[in-house]
Amino acid sequence: MNPNGQIAIVTGGGSGLGEATARALADKGARVAIFDIGIDRAAKVAGDIGGTAIQCDVSSADSGAAAVAEVEKRLGPARILVNCAGIAIGVKTIGKDGPHPLDQYRKVIEINLIGTFNMIRLVADRAAKLEPLQGGERGVIVNTASVAAYDGQIGQAAYAASKGGVVGMTLPVARDLARSGIRVCTIAPGIFKTPMMAGMPQEVQDSLGAAVPFPSRLGEPSEYAALALHIVENQMLNGETIRLDGAIRMAP
Ligand code: NAD
Repeated sequence: MNPNGQIAIVTGGGSGLGEATARALADKGARVAIFDIGIDRAAKVAGDIGGTAIQCDVSSADSGAAAVAEVEKRLGPARILVNCAGIAIGVKTIGKDGPHPLDQYRKVIEINLIGTFNMIRLVADRAAKLEPLQGGERGVIVNTASVAAYDGQIGQAAYAASKGGVVGMTLPVARDLARSGIRVCTIAPGIFKTPMMAGMPQEVQDSLGAAVPFPSRLGEPSEYAALALHIVENQMLNGETIRLDGAIRMAP
């Protein structure tokens, strides 16, 4: 789909990979709604790109539905959804210091996995009722998993499960939505320089960058955004999860 003139929702668009994607979509002429739990971050990005900011907790059915309705009121119905909202809460190794807290496990699943599904179902329901564009296409959805889906590290039981769930649902959801002319793909990033990663000590960031076979560095958010745009524009890409990780395979 040509994003020019289309309405796009980017969740987690107030920071990191989502912010870069919102900026890239706006550069291509899309009208972008930034959904974020942090409204100040979202408003700053929206202000920069002439978009609109809407506070939304992606894990909540009510908050998601209200935000999608608000986009429609302000801009019109969205055909593009990029799901970047996510959390990776602090390393907690199972089997240490007593039973792993279930509330923390649930929170990661609720935001990263259920939040992604929540936004897909809300945007797809609306996009399916729109007039088809070129080739019968009505919408396109890009999700964000992680290489942790394949290669979860110590302390990543919840995060890896949430991202594995996103990878697992990509093909069936794409097949479900194919009849509506809506494509669904997922990007599984390696390690990217975003605020989520900024908390890591510099020497850890350096050694992670050095572990990337090529290009031996961490990814730039603009490189994620370029792939998200490619997925939006390339009608043949559907149901696929693409690793964007410089071929890194991590030792535990
Ligand atoms: P980030 O922390 O910079 O941005 C995430 C944004 O999501 C924030 O603005 C935050 O406010 C928002 N958010 C969090 N919970 C939310 C909720 N419930 N509802 C709405 N918004 C919410 O992180 P990032 O590095 O840009 O990560 C973006 C996505 O990419 C995440 O899903 C993350 O798991 C995934 N990812 C990141 C990396 C990386 O190396 N940075 C690697 C693999 C996967």
